[in-house]
Amino acid sequence: MIGFQYVRPSNIADAVRLVAADPAAKFVAGGTNLLDLMKEDVERPSRLVDISRLPLKTVEDSADGGLRIGALVPNSDLAYHPVVARRYPILASAILAGASAQLRNMASTGGNLMQRTRCPYFYDVVTPCNKREPGTGCSAIGGHNRGHAILGSSDACIAVHPSDMCVALAALDAAVHVVGPDGSRLIAFGDFHRLPGDTPHLETNLQRDEIIVAVEVPAEGFAENHTYLKIRDRLSYAFALVSVAAALELDRGTIRQARLAAGGVAHKPWRDKSAEAALIGQVPNRAVFARAADIILRDAKGWEHNAFKIELAHRVIVRALSQAAAGRPQSQSNKTIQ
Ligand code: SF4
Repeated sequence: MIGFQYVRPSNIADAVRLVAADPAAKFVAGGTNLLDLMKEDVERPSRLVDISRLPLKTVEDSADGGLRIGALVPNSDLAYHPVVARRYPILASAILAGASAQLRNMASTGGNLMQRTRCPYFYDVVTPCNKREPGTGCSAIGGHNRGHAILGSSDACIAVHPSDMCVALAALDAAVHVVGPDGSRLIAFGDFHRLPGDTPHLETNLQRDEIIVAVEVPAEGFAENHTYLKIRDRLSYAFALVSVAAALELDRGTIRQARLAAGGVAHKPWRDKSAEAALIGQVPNRAVFARAADIILRDAKGWEHNAFKIELAHRVIVRALSQAAAGRPQSQSNKTIQ
């Protein structure tokens, strides 16, 4: 681990100014990913700008009936927040599906969006990795790629985004409030994370001197018909092989609104609006759900060790939509798949 400066600004403007002034500076909040990356020598910041005490820890109603979640609200506080539990249970469920209780206590809302892939080659500095060191190659293509992407990958990188919470936020149509040297802006959740293309080292459309101040979810929380179903190698403290956030609004036996996002399958939470459109107006049943899964997976591509994820994803999508339609969301405490 390298030496670095540590500063703790008392306001957002100073935090932005400190990072803008130093190209090798980084924001740190909970540190649950960045500190690991520093210990492994993957991240080598010259300065850590500690934002953990900035006043960004409130959860409050937004003007249009939604919820504005401060960037520093810990994952555990958010999952158990009474309004989130009641109006956005799919978000609470996705958070509780992730990491461990100790990590959720430290991890922040903004940090969850910024966490980096868990591709093992990315963490191993003696192996080629285009994400860590552009132009060196991708060790996962032709290497151990069991947990890697089946959608939206490129010849440069086949890594997946590791977050559970972000999959639910994608399904909920969240937006991200950010502040930078030129002021504030709002980024639609679907535009926040990037596909790898030929620049896999760029994972988000956030500028390096911009700070996330809040995440906002709209009024519609799909509290009646939703689920977050996560399939992984062990029952807790494991990243998703495939996860699905499914949310439906039913009206007299037909689907009026549908949201479907998948995790563990791509470089970003994967949401396919054409699959959602295929659900709308339909009577919920297995054939309709299977057709939506076919649409999402139409361009899926497996690698030597992860081709099984295509069939797995199909099954998880159908199962998740069935759970949502029945109003029986997956329990995150009883790990038996419903
Ligand atoms: Fe690096 Fe991406 Fe290849 Fe993993 S999949 S080795 S992160 S370039």
